[in-house]
Amino acid sequence: MINVTQTFLPPIEEYNAILKRAWEKKWLTNRGELVLELEDKIKNKYHISNILATTNGTLPLQIAIKCLELKGEIITTPFSYIATTSSIIWEGCHPVFVDIDEETFNIDPLKIERAITPKTSAILATHVFGNPCKIDAIAKIAKKHNLKVIYDAAHSFGVSYNNQSIFEYGDVSTCSFHATKIFHTGEGGALFTKDKELYNKLYYHHNFGHKGALDFHGLGINAKISELQAAMGLAVFPYLEAIFERRESLYKRYQKELKGSVQFQKIESNCDYNYSYIPVVFKTEKQLQDVVNLLNNNHIYPRQYFNPSLNTIAYINGDVMPVSESISSRVLCLPLYFDLAEAQVLLISNLIRNCISNE
Ligand SMILES: *Cc1c(COP(=O)(O)O)cnc(C)c1O
Repeated sequence: MINVTQTFLPPIEEYNAILKRAWEKKWLTNRGELVLELEDKIKNKYHISNILATTNGTLPLQIAIKCLELKGEIITTPFSYIATTSSIIWEGCHPVFVDIDEETFNIDPLKIERAITPKTSAILATHVFGNPCKIDAIAKIAKKHNLKVIYDAAHSFGVSYNNQSIFEYGDVSTCSFHATKIFHTGEGGALFTKDKELYNKLYYHHNFGHKGALDFHGLGINAKISELQAAMGLAVFPYLEAIFERRESLYKRYQKELKGSVQFQKIESNCDYNYSYIPVVFKTEKQLQDVVNLLNNNHIYPRQYFNPSLNTIAYINGDVMPVSESISSRVLCLPLYFDLAEAQVLLISNLIRNCISNE
């Protein structure tokens, strides 16, 4: 069986050696030495101003909305994982969708200004599949209309834009370290901001609002990452470059094999990409269905990321988003992971090519 992804697991002895440190200290959470070490490693590797590791990649979105004191409408993308939109609603705000660019799959900045109303407080955009948004255009619009910017950078670990970590952009950026993501701690995530004062506020909020043992800075929640999660991150960390390299090579092999048969995502030019996903778009929904059926019959399970387009979900009921809905109905993320063999990429590509040419 070949799934869309397979979690990268470091040698278990290496994981155990790190876990042993937690055992020896009898210290499992509340920002122990493993969490601090993981934060330091990420911060130094990518030259990041401030990082706060968290227990997943969804709470950071909610905490960011809370700490930026956003109200009313938040402009967002319909082409993302549900957490992007559900966080807005969970925080009592209203998601206003703006359609995506059909080549990059990211929110289309040309359509953002039309969606701004006196109630708009922010833009929450996803760097879809790790591909950077039009960051400069979004920053300009935000400045002009006095809006905050949050980037859901759940897929973007390791990506840089204009020679800076992608996490340095926006008022706040968030990441997910979920087991299906390119860098993982089992469950986990992080908050990033260049603003030290805002960082402190995020920090308090992620730990019940605690200011020392007896005092409270204000309202908070529990989004703390544990030592057990950090241990996994530390064990995966030394393999990052090998993971990026392997994925790049498999990604490029897919591109070579499927060139002319499907549409690929257009990656921004001034970025260092992480090859976190290989989405392909078919000409029609029927073509996609035929390919999915054929691959499934061969025990290959790609995923339709992102389908449905978030504006169409019943409890959300947003405006029609023609581009997002069209891409959603025709997009497929093909298997891509460290242990995938090149022969498997060839097998999958051949099945797809044959399926398409039979139509
Ligand atoms: C995975 C993901 C999240 C949520 O991250 P978790 O760590 O699973 O909570 C948020 N946004 C996007 C775009 C994601 O893909």
